[in-house]
Amino acid sequence: MLTKIIDEDLIQRTKHILHHSENVVIVSHQGPDGDALGSSLAMADFLTEKGKNVQVMYPDCFADFLAWMPGANKTLTFKHDAETCKSILNDADTIICLDFNQLKRMGELGELVEKSKAKKVMFDHHPMPDQFADVQISYPQFASTSEIVFRYICRSGCFDEMTLACAQCVYTGMMTDTGGFTYNSNNEEMYYIISQLIRKGIDKDDIYNKVFNTYSADRMRLMGFVLNNRMNVLPEYHTAIMNLSLADLKDYNYQVGDAEGFVNMPLSIAGIVFAVFFREDTDKIKISFRSRGSFPANKVAFELFNGGGHLNAAGAEFYGRMEDALRLLEEALPKYDI
Ligand code: 5GP
Ligand code: MN
Repeated sequence: MLTKIIDEDLIQRTKHILHHSENVVIVSHQGPDGDALGSSLAMADFLTEKGKNVQVMYPDCFADFLAWMPGANKTLTFKHDAETCKSILNDADTIICLDFNQLKRMGELGELVEKSKAKKVMFDHHPMPDQFADVQISYPQFASTSEIVFRYICRSGCFDEMTLACAQCVYTGMMTDTGGFTYNSNNEEMYYIISQLIRKGIDKDDIYNKVFNTYSADRMRLMGFVLNNRMNVLPEYHTAIMNLSLADLKDYNYQVGDAEGFVNMPLSIAGIVFAVFFREDTDKIKISFRSRGSFPANKVAFELFNGGGHLNAAGAEFYGRMEDALRLLEEALPKYDI
């Protein structure tokens, strides 16, 4: 049995809104990851089974290693299909916001959601959310939004109706947001949920292989390159910093998602508890922060780059030159007790 952690009033209000909705739009954050897809596709499957007219849309593309997920091929990308997204948003009764705590994490799509008159329901696990939805199911103690969606479905009395596809999506989100259950993964109820997903028929080994063992040779070589040529280990600060420029990425035929997980690698070095990875994009530098133990990656992300996230996994964007972003971090390191 699961502990009833989500407030009953929030469950009932969400059920009420969804019961009275015909057209539901589901959105998630830029650079949608396994939990963004897991939670949104699980929710989409659940509501489609209930007879709702559902459309999932993301601000931009997801990585190829998530394309196998049930329903992923029916999603829309605002970057490529803005007009279709706008017209579907116009007809929405309800917008479900999954796996983000600030509308700005959706870029331009966030501005449209903000303006929309549709009811908004948010499911998320990031600390310190903005208040932007009519109902906010915000629980940072859960390791993934997908787990919150699972709990919502159960609390709505609908576990029996959950399909295998929905279970596969929930599992993928739980697995990816915990690095394959290697961090943030000590809550015993997580394993009860997994047992229930296995009862639904998921093949967890197969899902692991689909997500983590489908690298291209180019990606493998890019990983070798970044470790060998672009990693700066600073033992005095227990920190490692990595960066890749657009030119580096081009050399290795970079595809969306190819650098996913790189930021975690330096944490396997003895004594390193903080890892930061800067990846140049066409209009910005995308920064990922990871830490071990109690050192707050999200504090550094916020204080230096106005980003945010979780204690051990955070991110930010920097609009400027790579060397300036790197210098900002390197000069600030001495003031943190890492
Ligand atoms: P990743 O490094 O995988 O892109 O992001 C790790 C976590 O950092 C995400 O789950 C999210 O919580 C947070 N995050 C990533 N990018 C940003 C950003 O640009 N702004 C904020 N506020 N949080 C971010
Ligand atoms: Mn998440």
